[in-house]
Amino acid sequence: MLRRKFLKNSLTGLPIVLATPSLLASCQKQEEDIVTPNGKKVIIIGAGIAGLAAAKRLTEKGFTVNLIESQEKVGGRLRTSTHWGVAFDEGASWIHGPQGNPITPLATQAGANTYLTADDNVKVFAANGTAYTDAALTAAENQFDAALQAVVNAGSTTQSFETVFNNLYPSQTNNPLWRYMLSAYLEFNTGGDISRLSSKFFDDDEQFNGDDVIITNGYDKVANTLATGLAIQLNTKVTGINYSGSQVVVTTATSTLQADYVVVTVPLGVLKSNSIQFSPTLPASKIAAINNTQMGNVNKFLLVWNTAFWDTNLQYLGYTPNQKGKFNYFLNMRTFSPVNALMTFAFGNYATSTETMTDDAITTEIMNHLKTIYGNAIPNPIGMVRTRWAQNPHSFGAYSFATNGTTTADFDALATDVNKKLFFAGEHTSRMYRGTVHGAYLSGLREAEKIIQL
Ligand SMILES: Cc1cc2nc3c(=O)[nH]c(=O)nc-3n(C[C@H](O)[C@H](O)[C@H](O)COP(=O)(O)OP(=O)(O)OC[C@H]3O[C@@H](n4cnc5c(N)ncnc54)[C@H](O)[C@@H]3O)c2cc1C
Repeated sequence: MLRRKFLKNSLTGLPIVLATPSLLASCQKQEEDIVTPNGKKVIIIGAGIAGLAAAKRLTEKGFTVNLIESQEKVGGRLRTSTHWGVAFDEGASWIHGPQGNPITPLATQAGANTYLTADDNVKVFAANGTAYTDAALTAAENQFDAALQAVVNAGSTTQSFETVFNNLYPSQTNNPLWRYMLSAYLEFNTGGDISRLSSKFFDDDEQFNGDDVIITNGYDKVANTLATGLAIQLNTKVTGINYSGSQVVVTTATSTLQADYVVVTVPLGVLKSNSIQFSPTLPASKIAAINNTQMGNVNKFLLVWNTAFWDTNLQYLGYTPNQKGKFNYFLNMRTFSPVNALMTFAFGNYATSTETMTDDAITTEIMNHLKTIYGNAIPNPIGMVRTRWAQNPHSFGAYSFATNGTTTADFDALATDVNKKLFFAGEHTSRMYRGTVHGAYLSGLREAEKIIQL
């Protein structure tokens, strides 16, 4: 996700699930030298950053912790491929607001290298390949920021962003530069297509300070380091959770396990898929919250060439095709890697339609955009790698967003425990920092603290 904060101080007085300073303080606590077992067992479902954070904290406090993960490795949406000699992060790439962000020290500890990706080091090209002037782009971006503020002011919990935006700015609906900003900035930031994004809560979350940095040698390092020393059962999919008795019973394809507490950190998309049977069924408020919030989609595509034909000092290229969300934003990997690679994206509804396209069809479409900018003589890439987040059975989407119909009660309900036995963490449960690595991490610590307090 590219994190551009559009609206400042826009929490509109909504309740915040849990105060952040105490969580941040608990991140800074040192591991206890001697851990005294307290006799309590916790099962944590999902070894993404939320599950790992909870597991580490509870283990330090003497709980016997068993992490169960459906995939062959830890990290969840922190997943790196290095096939083409450059770290291609399929999920998260950036630390958003690195100052005071709990991921910053974890990344340092993990040996992650970071690089400041300046948002304004960008050149945007019209559909015919002509570049917009810097002045024209800056003016449009300023108007766009004001328009977002106008949408939130006029918005309601029942109307989509697109409905309110089209009412307010009918003349901009088909403006290619505005469509680019709605997609490469807003849909990338929130994960949701503007037709389904809440007009009220599309940008109400908070962020840490400082310009975003990208991890250049793989975000999975952070997860792998956090996982060190934890008891983790990989390749094990949880299918059932029974919390009717004094112990919570967790069912997998091959075993039945019991614990005093269970922390569910599977993504919102997995909760929506009903692939985990809860017994008794979850409270109505929790089910409503799962239904009333959405899992968005962002897909990434890495293309590699023998030689670079673009300005290797430029951080980002923008393009303004007719189709919203279609390969309209390019991250120049050459600014931080010797490999001649560009990463491009598909956002919103278009992201999902890419998932049934062949690699060749994807490459052709991307090359058509680049040929319009750089001419037909540019070389073909030697390789392409891609993601299909909507089809991924371990998440069914990229990250969560507030849709039309989402209420403040839903935000609270996603993070609420059930009977003080069943706890929920993960980016979708983070009211303040949803859709981020730090939001997921802090949510894991938040639930660990709840259990510790019991
Ligand atoms: C394309 C993309 C770009 C992103 N960019 C950024 C970015 O730049 N910066 C940023 O801060 N954030 C970004 N994010 C968001 C960030 O990656 C997530 O918010 C965060 O990693 C979520 O962590 P989590 O622990 O909540 O979930 P996950 O990482 O998804 O962990 C959940 C785990 O549960 C496991 N699981 C699922 N079902 C079961 C089951 N039945 N049984 C057992 N285990 C199960 C999954 O395999 C997974 O490992 C991006 C995400 C995507 C997809």
